[in-house]
Amino acid sequence: MATSPDVLDALRSALRVERDHLRRQLGEYGTGGEDMAFDGNFADSGQVAAEKGEHRVLANSIQDSLADIDHALEKLDKGGYGICERCGQEISEARLEAMPATRYCISCASS
Ligand SMILES: [Zn+2]
Repeated sequence: MATSPDVLDALRSALRVERDHLRRQLGEYGTGGEDMAFDGNFADSGQVAAEKGEHRVLANSIQDSLADIDHALEKLDKGGYGICERCGQEISEARLEAMPATRYCISCASS
């Protein structure tokens, strides 16, 4: 049972909204502007370093999510979206709606 075009359209929109959202977050937490945001805000330079480290981790995880979303959008255009990349089975619609950028079906993701 293939995922219906209506559902795919909705997922594509959801992915684009999420991508825009993450890109904005990355603008706030990413390396550009990081120094400006922190200069003079903390007296303790150790705390500044810790905060910067946290933000770098966050920025990395946002970049990972963005890569997954770009990958999912590419599959939506070129084909292969909704197919598990490990076992080749269709990913359930419910799972795609919950996690539109997922690459794996529920059994592969949990193994
Ligand atoms: Zn699978």
